[in-house]
Amino acid sequence: MRKVVIAGNWKMYKTVSESVDTVLALKPLVANANHCEVIIAPVFTALKTVADRIEGSNIRIAGQDCSTEVEEGAHTGEVAAFMLKDAGASHVIIGHSERRQFYSETDLMVKKKCQAALTAGLTAIVCVGESLEQRDQGIAENVVSGQLNGGLSGLTASDLDRIIVAYEPVWAIGTGRTATPEQAQEMHAFIRRVFAERHSSGAAEALRILYGGSVKPDNIAGLMSQGDIDGALVGGASLKADSFAQIVNYRS
Ligand code: PEP
Repeated sequence: MRKVVIAGNWKMYKTVSESVDTVLALKPLVANANHCEVIIAPVFTALKTVADRIEGSNIRIAGQDCSTEVEEGAHTGEVAAFMLKDAGASHVIIGHSERRQFYSETDLMVKKKCQAALTAGLTAIVCVGESLEQRDQGIAENVVSGQLNGGLSGLTASDLDRIIVAYEPVWAIGTGRTATPEQAQEMHAFIRRVFAERHSSGAAEALRILYGGSVKPDNIAGLMSQGDIDGALVGGASLKADSFAQIVNYRS
């Protein structure tokens, strides 16, 4: 049985005090959400403070990115995965489409970041997804399998326990345009098949695959009704405690 994951990506929003206010408002609203893992990803500068303020709660913290470098060193502007762990994170988002699109992140970088995350003891939430142009060209599955094969090659069976895949079609992120539950299910089932072929049917069966792209309180239940959708990575609608809590509590 795969445990549902609902993760909020706060992107480059919120000061430290705004982040604390939001997480403190969220905490009681999701305190009974035993059906899922609740994760939020604040900006780096707020991560430690937020982690400290929610200690003992059921909310987990993710970094939004990490360095390809495993060790500390002369890498100005970078944050190592082990530093995220030290600051209180248990997860890290890797290969978000905004990083691929605007910061030239490649599959090789995604692979190195995953390895750094796993070495640090973090769970990696690895994002994949096609652009609208690629979908229209009929190559969405090729793009996604290329990203999976490039970003997740060289993983051992035990590494797979700490990998979560987020399918985030680029055309649905921040656009208000959500993939239909059927479109998302189709790609999630495809991702599971890729994992089964590459690793094992057991690993594919255990893999959590999140959908991301304009998830809101009014579309989460439809998405979650699909057999291969194991949760959501939520951007805009995670910025407000009440809308994120409604997504987390989609079953009640
Ligand atoms: C995201 O940032 O991962 C995301 C899915 O954003 P939004 O929910 O705003 O589309």
